[in-house]
Amino acid sequence: MKSEALEVLHRVFGYASFRGEQAAIVEHLENGNDCLVLMPTGGGKSLCYQVPALLREGTAIVVSPLIALMQDQVDALTQLGVAAAFLNSSLSPQAQREVEQRLLRRELKLLYVAPERLLGERTLELLERVPVSLFAIDEAHCVSQWGHDFRPEYRGLNLLHERFPRIPRIALTATADAPTRSEIVERLGLDGARQFVASFDRPNIRYQVVQKDNARRQLKAFLEAHRDESGIVYCLSRKKVDETAAALVEDGFHAMAYHAGMEQATRAANQQRFLRDEGVIMVATIAFGMGIDKPDVRYVAHLDLPKSMEGYYQETGRAGRDGLPADAWLCYGLGDVVTMSQMIAQSESGQERKRVERAKLEALLGYAESTGCRRRLLLGYFGEEAPGNCGNCDNCIEPPRSWDASEVAQKALSAVYRTGQRFGVGHLVSVLRGEDSDKLRSWNHHTLSVYGVGKDLDARQWSGVFRHLVAAGHLGADHEGYGTLHLTESSRGVLKGETRVLMRFEAAQAERRAARKSGKPSAKAGRASNTLQIGDDERPLWDALRAVRARLAKEQNVPAYVIFHDATLLDMLREHPMSLRELAQISGVGTTKLEKYGEAFLAVLTSE
Ligand code: ADP
Ligand code: ZN
Repeated sequence: MKSEALEVLHRVFGYASFRGEQAAIVEHLENGNDCLVLMPTGGGKSLCYQVPALLREGTAIVVSPLIALMQDQVDALTQLGVAAAFLNSSLSPQAQREVEQRLLRRELKLLYVAPERLLGERTLELLERVPVSLFAIDEAHCVSQWGHDFRPEYRGLNLLHERFPRIPRIALTATADAPTRSEIVERLGLDGARQFVASFDRPNIRYQVVQKDNARRQLKAFLEAHRDESGIVYCLSRKKVDETAAALVEDGFHAMAYHAGMEQATRAANQQRFLRDEGVIMVATIAFGMGIDKPDVRYVAHLDLPKSMEGYYQETGRAGRDGLPADAWLCYGLGDVVTMSQMIAQSESGQERKRVERAKLEALLGYAESTGCRRRLLLGYFGEEAPGNCGNCDNCIEPPRSWDASEVAQKALSAVYRTGQRFGVGHLVSVLRGEDSDKLRSWNHHTLSVYGVGKDLDARQWSGVFRHLVAAGHLGADHEGYGTLHLTESSRGVLKGETRVLMRFEAAQAERRAARKSGKPSAKAGRASNTLQIGDDERPLWDALRAVRARLAKEQNVPAYVIFHDATLLDMLREHPMSLRELAQISGVGTTKLEKYGEAFLAVLTSE
């Protein structure tokens, strides 16, 4: 029995073995049992129902809320030689009838259906006339009222259980938290169903946090390492999205914008280009991303702070679905901390909600300021214990020097106190560094005891100290938007020397400049990007393979990854097959694709 599943995996998908719990899930479903699968993005959820769909008699019904994705999924299956189709509101009545006819003729192995369509009496009656092999409920967290993806129609899906009690159901989600999980079980009537819970780690994603200094320049340097690769750059506001995209285009990057304020048609066109073309940078608000199934997004960059760890995990999770190296890069500074606290304070939410939002922001700031393994912290936040330090985050790769900043923190807090808790960082730093200015004199601040006590740190380092103090809650930012700082309850402990302040060491401006000039990598540049690492000698063949793929994709008007994923191309590059038989051994080359594309790729491989 198990060998049949493996045979399908080899022949149709061209993969050598199942990953993690896939084999167990396939077997469970194949035997007619229900289950709930929790796996991170890129974990390989689709095979969990696609393989049983091919093994069992009849048509598998896949419920998905993401209409825009159905076409791609059906395209991908068609490429594998699997008979698949979809039913949703984008089809003309004529096309819809054709799909229905194919279903009735029992030609389809998989049928993707939008939930509202599935629950219509017409579709239900149709399904009663054909053998259904299984129901797969994708994005099952959409049933949860508490998530941001709530779909009321999902609530009706327990009907499947009542109407088709003998047909196995598999619900899948990449949302990990326990309340959502129990809501799925309850709402979909899955009590008693086995739960498969995978680790939520995304080992191929490298997490990096950099201190904002000159965001534009930092972003460009980061993007340089990812030339010709696809990625997403998240910004908080629509205005910043537009500005950033324009600046990147001016610098010769292939960048586009996406936010909810744009015209629907432009937005859709940009999204389509991001999916179809290679090497496009999408600069976007978080309105972009839900249902982006592109496997070769090589990086996600945040130019502003996400709202929470949940948001950060979800947004960065869009990188590297194909399992190849990918970057999650966050650039933030004091200004962001202040902006986020203000946004929470000024929001319409009630007190209780604000308290929750503040706590979520604090968790994220703790992550950003941390000197320990980022992955460990991230997984820990979701209740998963990492086996050790990961070796694939900035802090693991280059452990930051931390220093006892308690005394410095006391100076900073005194400066806030002595100036009456009504100034922003710029002024406070001037006071500490003993600078001379009219503003300073007019407030008589050159006579304060704290005046000039902090000449040993430069302005940037002081700014880092203030950022850390705000992030740690030892200072509060005002809520009116002036950026003034005030003491908090926890300031007292620091001022009295009872609370120690440990901070990441940040090199002085002069030191960093010198390092840049001498070509020596600064601490920051040393944290290399996590790219595919194509060697110079490999480049010509790599480009040639990509060109063949691009041509084939264009001919059929499908995204390049529908022909072959990067992982498959990379395997070809490294294994260098010289015959069709050898090509068949490459991961991702199944029988149908070998027949369709084998010759074209072999021509490139053998001409080397
Ligand atoms: P998810 O839906 O969980 O985000 P996908 O089903 O899209 O993940 O799979 C993620 C990637 O992993 C895809 O590129 C898929 O082809 C690949 N993949 C999944 N299972 C296997 C496997 N057993 N062997 C090789 N590649 C796999
Ligand atoms: Zn780590």
